[in-house]
Amino acid sequence: MQYETVIGLEIHAQLLTESKMFCGCSVKFGSEPNSQTCPVCIGMPGVLPVANRKAIEYVIKTGLAVNCKIAPYSRFARKNYFYPDLPKGYQISQYELPICEHGSVEITVNGGTRKIGLTRIHLEEDAGKNIHEGAGNYSYVDLNRAGTPLMEIVSEPDIRTPQEAAEFVKKLRAIVRYLGVCDGNMEQGSLRCDANVSVRPEGQNEFGTKTEIKNMNSFKYIEKALDYEIKRQIKVLNDGGRIIQETRLWNTAKGITESMRSKEEAHDYRYFPDPDLVPVEVDGKWIEQIKSQLVELPDSRQQRFISQHGLPEQDADLLTSERPISEWFEQAVKLGGEPKAVSNWMMGELMKLLNEEGKQIEESALKPGQLVGLLKLIDKNIISGKIAKTVFEEIYKTGRDAEVIVKEKGLVQVSDESEIEKVIDEVIANNPKEVERFKAGEEKLLGFFAGQIMKATKGKANPKIVNELLRKKLEN
Ligand code: ADP
Ligand code: ZN
Ligand code: MG
Repeated sequence: MQYETVIGLEIHAQLLTESKMFCGCSVKFGSEPNSQTCPVCIGMPGVLPVANRKAIEYVIKTGLAVNCKIAPYSRFARKNYFYPDLPKGYQISQYELPICEHGSVEITVNGGTRKIGLTRIHLEEDAGKNIHEGAGNYSYVDLNRAGTPLMEIVSEPDIRTPQEAAEFVKKLRAIVRYLGVCDGNMEQGSLRCDANVSVRPEGQNEFGTKTEIKNMNSFKYIEKALDYEIKRQIKVLNDGGRIIQETRLWNTAKGITESMRSKEEAHDYRYFPDPDLVPVEVDGKWIEQIKSQLVELPDSRQQRFISQHGLPEQDADLLTSERPISEWFEQAVKLGGEPKAVSNWMMGELMKLLNEEGKQIEESALKPGQLVGLLKLIDKNIISGKIAKTVFEEIYKTGRDAEVIVKEKGLVQVSDESEIEKVIDEVIANNPKEVERFKAGEEKLLGFFAGQIMKATKGKANPKIVNELLRKKLEN
Protein backbone atom coordinates (compact mmCIF):
# COMPACT_ATOMS: atom_id res chain seq x y z
CA MET A 1 0.00 0.00 0.00
CA GLN A 2 1.24 3.49 -0.89
CA TYR A 3 0.59 6.19 1.70
CA GLU A 4 0.40 9.94 1.39
CA THR A 5 1.56 12.18 4.24
CA VAL A 6 -0.46 15.13 5.52
CA ILE A 7 1.18 17.74 7.76
CA GLY A 8 -0.09 20.92 9.41
CA LEU A 9 2.16 23.12 11.55
CA GLU A 10 1.60 25.40 14.51
CA ILE A 11 4.34 27.95 15.05
CA HIS A 12 4.77 30.01 18.20
CA ALA A 13 6.80 33.17 17.81
CA GLN A 14 7.85 35.31 20.76
CA LEU A 15 7.21 38.92 19.80
CA LEU A 16 9.99 41.49 20.12
CA THR A 17 8.06 43.94 22.26
CA GLU A 18 9.67 45.76 25.20
CA SER A 19 6.94 44.84 27.65
CA LYS A 20 4.61 41.92 28.33
CA MET A 21 1.25 41.25 26.70
CA PHE A 22 -1.06 42.55 29.43
CA CYS A 23 1.16 44.49 31.85
CA GLY A 24 4.16 46.82 31.75
CA CYS A 25 6.77 44.28 32.94
CA SER A 26 9.92 43.88 30.85
CA VAL A 27 10.35 40.79 28.67
CA LYS A 28 14.15 40.92 28.87
CA PHE A 29 15.72 37.45 28.92
CA GLY A 30 18.07 36.14 31.59
CA SER A 31 17.24 38.30 34.62
CA GLU A 32 17.00 37.16 38.27
CA PRO A 33 14.00 34.80 38.61
CA ASN A 34 10.72 36.59 39.33
CA SER A 35 12.34 40.02 39.09
CA GLN A 36 10.16 40.97 36.10
CA THR A 37 6.73 40.37 37.55
CA CYS A 38 3.79 42.37 38.86
CA PRO A 39 0.31 41.59 40.28
CA VAL A 40 -1.06 41.22 36.71
CA CYS A 41 1.38 38.62 35.41
CA ILE A 42 1.55 36.60 38.63
CA GLY A 43 -2.23 36.28 38.60
CA MET A 44 -3.31 38.24 41.69
CA PRO A 45 -7.07 38.53 42.03
CA GLY A 46 -8.72 41.82 41.23
CA VAL A 47 -6.21 43.11 38.69
CA LEU A 48 -7.10 44.15 35.17
CA PRO A 49 -5.04 43.27 32.09
CA VAL A 50 -4.54 45.85 29.30
CA ALA A 51 -3.51 44.58 25.84
CA ASN A 52 -0.13 45.64 24.41
CA ARG A 53 -0.84 47.69 21.29
CA LYS A 54 2.60 46.97 19.80
CA ALA A 55 1.99 43.20 20.01
CA ILE A 56 -1.30 43.58 18.15
CA GLU A 57 0.49 45.70 15.56
CA TYR A 58 3.17 43.02 15.08
CA VAL A 59 0.51 40.36 14.47
CA ILE A 60 -1.26 42.57 11.94
CA LYS A 61 2.08 43.27 10.26
CA THR A 62 2.78 39.56 9.97
CA GLY A 63 -0.75 38.93 8.73
CA LEU A 64 -0.36 41.53 6.00
CA ALA A 65 2.98 40.02 4.95
CA VAL A 66 1.40 36.59 4.44
CA ASN A 67 -1.80 37.73 2.71
CA CYS A 68 -4.16 37.26 5.64
CA LYS A 69 -7.50 38.93 6.13
CA ILE A 70 -7.22 41.23 9.13
CA ALA A 71 -10.31 40.97 11.33
CA PRO A 72 -11.90 44.36 12.08
CA TYR A 73 -13.11 42.84 15.35
CA SER A 74 -11.43 40.12 17.39
CA ARG A 75 -11.48 38.91 20.98
CA PHE A 76 -9.25 37.45 23.64
CA ALA A 77 -10.39 34.19 25.24
CA ARG A 78 -9.45 32.28 28.35
CA LYS A 79 -7.96 28.83 27.89
CA ASN A 80 -8.38 27.09 31.20
CA TYR A 81 -5.95 24.55 32.60
CA PHE A 82 -3.93 24.02 35.73
CA TYR A 83 -0.16 24.03 35.89
CA PRO A 84 2.23 25.61 38.42
CA ASP A 85 3.76 27.95 35.81
CA LEU A 86 0.30 29.39 35.03
CA PRO A 87 -0.70 31.27 38.16
CA LYS A 88 -4.08 32.54 36.91
CA GLY A 89 -5.29 29.02 36.12
CA TYR A 90 -5.92 30.13 32.54
CA GLN A 91 -3.91 31.42 29.62
CA ILE A 92 -5.20 34.43 27.73
CA SER A 93 -5.36 33.46 24.06
CA GLN A 94 -7.72 33.86 21.13
CA TYR A 95 -10.22 31.25 20.06
CA GLU A 96 -13.20 31.97 17.82
CA LEU A 97 -12.14 35.40 16.66
CA PRO A 98 -8.39 35.61 15.90
CA ILE A 99 -6.77 38.78 14.52
CA CYS A 100 -5.74 37.20 11.18
CA GLU A 101 -7.22 34.46 8.98
CA HIS A 102 -6.92 32.90 5.52
CA GLY A 103 -3.35 33.64 4.50
CA SER A 104 -0.72 31.76 2.55
CA VAL A 105 3.01 31.50 1.90
CA GLU A 106 4.89 29.99 -1.02
CA ILE A 107 7.67 27.50 -0.54
CA THR A 108 10.12 26.06 -3.07
CA VAL A 109 11.25 22.46 -2.73
CA ASN A 110 13.32 20.66 -5.38
CA GLY A 111 12.64 23.43 -7.87
CA GLY A 112 8.86 23.23 -7.51
CA THR A 113 6.79 25.95 -5.86
CA ARG A 114 3.85 25.17 -3.55
CA LYS A 115 1.37 27.42 -1.81
CA ILE A 116 0.68 26.55 1.83
CA GLY A 117 -2.49 27.94 3.37
CA LEU A 118 -2.51 29.67 6.75
CA THR A 119 -5.62 29.06 8.80
CA ARG A 120 -5.05 31.82 11.34
CA ILE A 121 -2.60 33.95 13.27
CA HIS A 122 -3.52 34.86 16.81
CA LEU A 123 -2.07 36.42 19.93
CA GLU A 124 -1.61 34.82 23.30
CA GLU A 125 0.56 35.05 26.38
CA ASP A 126 3.38 32.69 27.33
CA ALA A 127 3.48 30.78 30.63
CA GLY A 128 6.28 30.91 33.24
CA LYS A 129 8.93 28.26 33.71
CA ASN A 130 9.23 25.43 36.22
CA ILE A 131 12.79 24.76 37.27
CA HIS A 132 13.64 21.25 38.42
CA GLU A 133 17.34 21.07 37.81
CA GLY A 134 19.94 22.08 40.38
CA ALA A 135 17.30 22.63 43.05
CA GLY A 136 17.79 19.53 45.20
CA ASN A 137 14.45 18.05 46.24
CA TYR A 138 12.56 21.15 45.25
CA SER A 139 11.04 22.58 42.13
CA TYR A 140 10.91 26.30 41.60
CA VAL A 141 8.73 28.56 39.51
CA ASP A 142 10.11 31.54 37.57
CA LEU A 143 7.39 33.84 36.30
CA ASN A 144 9.61 36.23 34.33
CA ARG A 145 8.35 34.72 31.08
CA ALA A 146 4.69 34.63 32.21
CA GLY A 147 2.74 37.05 30.07
CA THR A 148 5.32 37.39 27.27
CA PRO A 149 3.49 38.02 23.97
CA LEU A 150 3.34 35.02 21.66
CA MET A 151 2.05 34.96 18.11
CA GLU A 152 0.67 31.60 16.99
CA ILE A 153 0.61 30.83 13.27
CA VAL A 154 -1.49 27.81 12.27
CA SER A 155 -1.15 26.25 8.83
CA GLU A 156 -3.73 24.35 6.82
CA PRO A 157 -2.96 20.62 6.42
CA ASP A 158 -1.37 21.43 3.04
CA ILE A 159 2.16 20.21 3.68
CA ARG A 160 3.07 16.82 2.16
CA THR A 161 6.68 16.04 3.09
CA PRO A 162 9.07 16.63 6.02
CA GLN A 163 11.25 18.69 3.68
CA GLU A 164 8.31 20.94 2.84
CA ALA A 165 7.61 21.31 6.56
CA ALA A 166 11.18 22.47 7.21
CA GLU A 167 11.01 24.86 4.22
CA PHE A 168 7.74 26.27 5.52
CA VAL A 169 9.26 27.02 8.93
CA LYS A 170 12.33 28.52 7.25
CA LYS A 171 10.16 30.78 5.15
CA LEU A 172 8.10 32.00 8.11
CA ARG A 173 11.21 32.47 10.20
CA ALA A 174 12.74 34.60 7.45
CA ILE A 175 9.53 36.66 7.22
CA VAL A 176 9.21 37.39 10.95
CA ARG A 177 12.90 38.27 11.09
CA TYR A 178 12.62 40.60 8.08
CA LEU A 179 9.64 42.25 9.73
CA GLY A 180 11.53 42.56 13.01
CA VAL A 181 8.66 41.06 15.01
CA CYS A 182 10.54 37.98 16.32
CA ASP A 183 14.23 37.11 16.55
CA GLY A 184 13.52 33.60 15.25
CA ASN A 185 15.95 31.88 17.61
CA MET A 186 14.81 28.25 17.61
CA GLU A 187 17.45 26.94 19.98
CA GLN A 188 16.48 29.42 22.67
CA GLY A 189 12.82 28.80 21.96
CA SER A 190 11.74 32.21 20.72
CA LEU A 191 10.42 30.37 17.64
CA ARG A 192 8.84 26.98 18.38
CA CYS A 193 7.09 24.58 16.08
CA ASP A 194 4.57 21.80 16.74
CA ALA A 195 3.86 19.42 13.87
CA ASN A 196 0.57 17.62 13.25
CA VAL A 197 1.02 14.62 11.00
CA SER A 198 -1.08 11.80 9.57
CA VAL A 199 -0.90 9.35 6.69
CA ARG A 200 -3.64 8.09 4.36
CA PRO A 201 -3.77 5.51 1.59
CA GLU A 202 -2.99 7.23 -1.71
CA GLY A 203 -6.20 8.28 -3.43
CA GLN A 204 -8.23 8.49 -0.22
CA ASN A 205 -9.96 11.81 0.40
CA GLU A 206 -10.42 11.77 4.17
CA PHE A 207 -7.45 12.52 6.36
CA GLY A 208 -6.03 9.84 8.62
CA THR A 209 -5.83 10.21 12.41
CA LYS A 210 -3.09 12.67 13.33
CA THR A 211 -0.50 12.85 16.05
CA GLU A 212 1.06 16.08 17.26
CA ILE A 213 4.82 16.24 17.69
CA LYS A 214 6.52 18.72 20.00
CA ASN A 215 10.05 19.53 21.09
CA MET A 216 11.89 19.99 17.81
CA ASN A 217 14.19 22.99 18.12
CA SER A 218 15.85 23.07 14.70
CA PHE A 219 14.99 22.61 11.01
CA LYS A 220 16.97 19.40 11.00
CA TYR A 221 14.98 17.93 13.89
CA ILE A 222 11.67 18.93 12.30
CA GLU A 223 12.61 16.84 9.26
CA LYS A 224 14.01 13.98 11.30
CA ALA A 225 11.07 13.81 13.72
CA LEU A 226 8.54 13.84 10.87
CA ASP A 227 10.50 11.23 8.92
CA TYR A 228 10.50 8.97 11.92
CA GLU A 229 6.83 9.57 12.77
CA ILE A 230 5.63 8.90 9.22
CA LYS A 231 7.48 5.58 9.09
CA ARG A 232 6.11 4.67 12.52
CA GLN A 233 2.51 5.40 11.48
CA ILE A 234 2.82 3.45 8.24
CA LYS A 235 4.24 0.48 10.11
CA VAL A 236 1.38 0.55 12.63
CA LEU A 237 -1.16 0.58 9.77
CA ASN A 238 0.62 -2.12 7.77
CA ASP A 239 0.69 -4.30 10.87
CA GLY A 240 -3.10 -4.01 11.04
CA GLY A 241 -3.14 -1.49 13.91
CA ARG A 242 -4.69 1.97 14.13
CA ILE A 243 -3.17 5.36 14.93
CA ILE A 244 -4.04 6.79 18.32
CA GLN A 245 -4.61 10.53 18.39
CA GLU A 246 -1.98 11.75 20.81
CA THR A 247 0.78 14.22 21.54
CA ARG A 248 4.29 12.84 21.06
CA LEU A 249 7.67 14.25 22.02
CA TRP A 250 10.73 14.18 19.78
CA ASN A 251 13.62 12.59 21.67
CA THR A 252 16.75 14.05 20.11
CA ALA A 253 19.16 11.64 21.81
CA LYS A 254 17.27 8.54 20.71
CA GLY A 255 16.09 9.92 17.37
CA ILE A 256 12.49 8.78 17.97
CA THR A 257 9.10 10.24 18.93
CA GLU A 258 7.58 9.07 22.21
CA SER A 259 4.01 9.22 23.45
CA MET A 260 3.41 12.07 25.91
CA ARG A 261 -0.36 12.07 26.34
CA SER A 262 -3.32 10.60 24.49
CA LYS A 263 -6.47 12.44 23.45
CA GLU A 264 -8.31 10.98 26.46
CA GLU A 265 -5.81 12.65 28.74
CA ALA A 266 -6.00 15.91 26.83
CA HIS A 267 -7.42 18.96 28.59
CA ASP A 268 -10.86 20.32 28.03
CA TYR A 269 -9.88 23.96 27.91
CA ARG A 270 -13.39 25.40 28.40
CA TYR A 271 -12.57 28.44 26.26
CA PHE A 272 -14.69 31.55 26.80
CA PRO A 273 -14.27 35.24 25.92
CA ASP A 274 -12.18 37.06 28.53
CA PRO A 275 -14.57 39.52 30.20
CA ASP A 276 -11.64 41.61 31.52
CA LEU A 277 -10.42 42.63 28.07
CA VAL A 278 -12.10 44.87 25.53
CA PRO A 279 -12.42 43.46 21.98
CA VAL A 280 -9.65 44.39 19.55
CA GLU A 281 -11.01 46.76 16.91
CA VAL A 282 -8.81 47.42 13.89
CA ASP A 283 -9.86 50.14 11.45
CA GLY A 284 -8.66 50.76 7.90
CA LYS A 285 -6.54 53.69 8.97
CA TRP A 286 -4.51 51.58 11.40
CA ILE A 287 -4.03 48.88 8.75
CA GLU A 288 -2.85 51.46 6.21
CA GLN A 289 -0.41 52.88 8.71
CA ILE A 290 1.07 49.43 9.40
CA LYS A 291 1.16 48.63 5.69
CA SER A 292 3.22 51.74 5.05
CA GLN A 293 5.90 50.39 7.41
CA LEU A 294 6.18 46.99 5.70
CA VAL A 295 9.66 46.19 4.39
CA GLU A 296 10.38 44.33 1.18
CA LEU A 297 9.99 40.61 1.97
CA PRO A 298 12.42 37.77 1.15
CA ASP A 299 10.45 36.43 -1.85
CA SER A 300 10.18 39.71 -3.68
CA ARG A 301 13.72 40.69 -2.75
CA GLN A 302 14.93 37.38 -4.21
CA GLN A 303 13.07 38.06 -7.47
CA ARG A 304 14.53 41.55 -7.60
CA PHE A 305 18.08 40.27 -7.05
CA ILE A 306 17.56 38.05 -10.11
CA SER A 307 15.98 40.68 -12.35
CA GLN A 308 17.86 43.78 -11.21
CA HIS A 309 21.28 42.40 -10.33
CA GLY A 310 21.28 39.46 -12.75
CA LEU A 311 22.08 36.89 -10.04
CA PRO A 312 21.41 33.18 -10.53
CA GLU A 313 18.44 31.94 -8.49
CA GLN A 314 20.61 30.04 -6.02
CA ASP A 315 22.67 33.14 -5.20
CA ALA A 316 19.55 35.26 -4.83
CA ASP A 317 18.00 32.66 -2.54
CA LEU A 318 20.99 32.53 -0.21
CA LEU A 319 21.63 36.26 -0.18
CA THR A 320 18.02 37.04 0.78
CA SER A 321 17.72 34.38 3.47
CA GLU A 322 18.51 37.03 6.10
CA ARG A 323 17.75 40.71 5.84
CA PRO A 324 21.21 41.89 7.03
CA ILE A 325 22.91 39.66 4.43
CA SER A 326 20.75 41.06 1.64
CA GLU A 327 21.45 44.61 2.80
CA TRP A 328 25.20 43.97 2.98
CA PHE A 329 25.07 42.71 -0.61
CA GLU A 330 23.12 45.67 -1.92
CA GLN A 331 25.41 48.09 -0.13
CA ALA A 332 28.43 46.51 -1.85
CA VAL A 333 26.72 46.71 -5.25
CA LYS A 334 25.76 50.31 -4.60
CA LEU A 335 29.42 51.11 -3.92
CA GLY A 336 30.37 49.78 -7.35
CA GLY A 337 30.89 46.04 -6.76
CA GLU A 338 30.02 43.78 -9.71
CA PRO A 339 27.00 41.82 -8.39
CA LYS A 340 28.12 38.28 -9.26
CA ALA A 341 31.65 38.90 -7.97
CA VAL A 342 30.27 40.31 -4.70
CA SER A 343 27.94 37.33 -4.43
CA ASN A 344 30.76 34.83 -5.00
CA TRP A 345 32.93 36.36 -2.29
CA MET A 346 30.02 36.59 0.13
CA MET A 347 28.76 33.05 -0.41
CA GLY A 348 32.27 31.62 -0.42
CA GLU A 349 34.93 33.22 1.75
CA LEU A 350 32.78 35.54 3.86
CA MET A 351 30.17 32.91 4.86
CA LYS A 352 32.94 30.42 5.53
CA LEU A 353 34.77 32.74 7.90
CA LEU A 354 31.54 33.86 9.61
CA ASN A 355 30.45 30.25 10.10
CA GLU A 356 33.79 29.30 11.58
CA GLU A 357 33.33 31.95 14.23
CA GLY A 358 29.57 31.51 14.62
CA LYS A 359 29.18 35.20 13.78
CA GLN A 360 26.41 37.14 12.08
CA ILE A 361 27.26 39.34 9.12
CA GLU A 362 26.41 42.51 11.03
CA GLU A 363 29.08 41.62 13.60
CA SER A 364 31.77 41.35 10.96
CA ALA A 365 34.60 43.91 10.96
CA LEU A 366 34.66 43.66 7.17
CA LYS A 367 32.37 46.24 5.60
CA PRO A 368 30.85 46.13 2.08
CA GLY A 369 33.05 48.97 0.85
CA GLN A 370 36.17 47.02 1.77
CA LEU A 371 35.14 44.04 -0.33
CA VAL A 372 34.55 46.43 -3.21
CA GLY A 373 38.05 47.84 -2.65
CA LEU A 374 39.48 44.34 -2.91
CA LEU A 375 37.50 43.59 -6.08
CA LYS A 376 38.91 46.72 -7.67
CA LEU A 377 42.47 45.56 -6.99
CA ILE A 378 41.68 42.24 -8.68
CA ASP A 379 40.02 43.97 -11.63
CA LYS A 380 42.99 46.22 -12.18
CA ASN A 381 45.33 43.23 -12.07
CA ILE A 382 47.11 44.70 -9.08
CA ILE A 383 46.71 41.43 -7.16
CA SER A 384 46.05 37.88 -8.32
CA GLY A 385 42.95 35.91 -7.37
CA LYS A 386 45.04 33.69 -5.17
CA ILE A 387 46.61 36.55 -3.23
CA ALA A 388 43.14 38.12 -2.99
CA LYS A 389 42.05 35.26 -0.72
CA THR A 390 44.87 35.96 1.71
CA VAL A 391 44.12 39.67 1.62
CA PHE A 392 40.43 38.96 2.19
CA GLU A 393 41.21 36.99 5.34
CA GLU A 394 43.35 39.84 6.53
CA ILE A 395 40.65 42.48 5.93
CA TYR A 396 38.12 40.20 7.59
CA LYS A 397 40.31 39.86 10.69
CA THR A 398 41.43 43.45 10.99
CA GLY A 399 38.80 45.52 9.21
CA ARG A 400 41.63 47.37 7.40
CA ASP A 401 41.49 48.33 3.72
CA ALA A 402 42.78 45.95 1.07
CA GLU A 403 44.96 48.58 -0.55
CA VAL A 404 46.84 49.25 2.68
CA ILE A 405 47.38 45.55 3.34
CA VAL A 406 48.61 44.89 -0.19
CA LYS A 407 51.12 47.75 -0.02
CA GLU A 408 52.30 46.89 3.46
CA LYS A 409 52.90 43.24 2.69
CA GLY A 410 54.27 43.76 -0.79
CA LEU A 411 51.61 41.60 -2.41
CA VAL A 412 51.32 43.57 -5.62
CA GLN A 413 51.04 41.24 -8.59
CA VAL A 414 54.12 40.94 -10.79
CA SER A 415 53.17 41.64 -14.39
CA ASP A 416 56.59 42.72 -15.56
CA GLU A 417 57.47 40.26 -18.34
CA SER A 418 61.23 40.38 -17.94
CA GLU A 419 60.95 39.68 -14.22
CA ILE A 420 58.66 36.70 -14.84
CA GLU A 421 60.88 35.47 -17.65
CA LYS A 422 63.80 35.29 -15.27
CA VAL A 423 61.89 33.00 -12.94
CA ILE A 424 60.67 30.84 -15.83
CA ASP A 425 64.22 30.37 -17.08
CA GLU A 426 65.31 29.25 -13.63
CA VAL A 427 62.48 26.78 -13.26
CA ILE A 428 63.15 25.33 -16.70
CA ALA A 429 66.84 25.01 -15.94
CA ASN A 430 66.14 23.25 -12.64
CA ASN A 431 63.75 20.67 -14.12
CA PRO A 432 65.34 19.21 -17.26
CA LYS A 433 63.55 15.84 -16.95
CA GLU A 434 60.14 17.48 -16.87
CA VAL A 435 61.09 19.60 -19.87
CA GLU A 436 61.94 16.41 -21.81
CA ARG A 437 58.65 14.82 -20.88
CA PHE A 438 56.71 17.93 -21.87
CA LYS A 439 58.41 17.99 -25.21
CA ALA A 440 57.54 14.32 -25.64
CA GLY A 441 53.89 15.29 -25.42
CA GLU A 442 53.01 15.35 -21.70
CA GLU A 443 50.89 18.52 -21.93
CA LYS A 444 49.66 18.35 -18.37
CA LEU A 445 53.15 19.20 -17.07
CA LEU A 446 52.35 22.78 -17.94
CA GLY A 447 50.49 22.91 -14.64
CA PHE A 448 53.55 21.63 -12.81
CA PHE A 449 55.73 24.40 -14.25
CA ALA A 450 53.16 27.08 -13.54
CA GLY A 451 52.95 25.81 -9.96
CA GLN A 452 56.72 26.05 -9.53
CA ILE A 453 56.72 29.60 -10.85
CA MET A 454 53.90 30.64 -8.54
CA LYS A 455 55.77 29.06 -5.65
CA ALA A 456 58.95 30.94 -6.52
CA THR A 457 57.07 34.25 -6.72
CA LYS A 458 54.96 33.54 -3.61
CA GLY A 459 51.82 33.56 -5.75
CA LYS A 460 52.45 37.08 -7.00
CA ALA A 461 53.15 36.38 -10.68
CA ASN A 462 50.34 37.35 -13.04
CA PRO A 463 49.03 33.89 -14.03
CA LYS A 464 47.96 35.00 -17.51
CA ILE A 465 51.44 36.24 -18.37
CA VAL A 466 53.04 33.19 -16.75
CA ASN A 467 51.02 30.85 -18.95
CA GLU A 468 51.75 32.76 -22.15
CA LEU A 469 55.47 33.05 -21.57
CA LEU A 470 55.80 29.52 -20.28
CA ARG A 471 54.25 28.05 -23.39
CA LYS A 472 56.43 30.17 -25.62
CA LYS A 473 59.61 29.10 -23.82
CA LEU A 474 58.78 25.41 -23.59
CA GLU A 475 57.62 25.09 -27.14
CA ASN A 476 60.81 26.65 -28.48
P1 ADP B 1 -6.99 20.31 16.96
O1 ADP B 1 -8.44 20.38 17.09
O2 ADP B 1 -6.40 19.00 17.37
O3 ADP B 1 -6.27 21.49 17.53
P2 ADP B 1 -7.00 21.52 14.38
O4 ADP B 1 -8.01 21.11 13.38
O5 ADP B 1 -7.20 22.80 15.12
O6 ADP B 1 -6.72 20.34 15.38
O7 ADP B 1 -5.60 21.62 13.60
C1 ADP B 1 -4.41 21.81 14.27
C2 ADP B 1 -3.31 21.65 13.23
O8 ADP B 1 -3.30 20.32 12.73
C3 ADP B 1 -3.46 22.51 11.99
O9 ADP B 1 -2.18 22.97 11.60
C4 ADP B 1 -4.04 21.60 10.94
O10 ADP B 1 -3.64 21.96 9.66
C5 ADP B 1 -3.43 20.28 11.33
N1 ADP B 1 -4.24 19.10 11.00
C6 ADP B 1 -5.56 18.95 11.21
N2 ADP B 1 -5.96 17.72 10.85
C7 ADP B 1 -4.85 17.05 10.41
C8 ADP B 1 -4.60 15.74 9.93
N3 ADP B 1 -5.54 14.82 9.84
N4 ADP B 1 -3.33 15.43 9.58
C9 ADP B 1 -2.35 16.33 9.71
N5 ADP B 1 -2.52 17.58 10.15
C10 ADP B 1 -3.76 17.94 10.52
ZN1 ZN C 1 3.68 42.06 34.99
MG1 MG D 1 -7.11 23.50 17.20
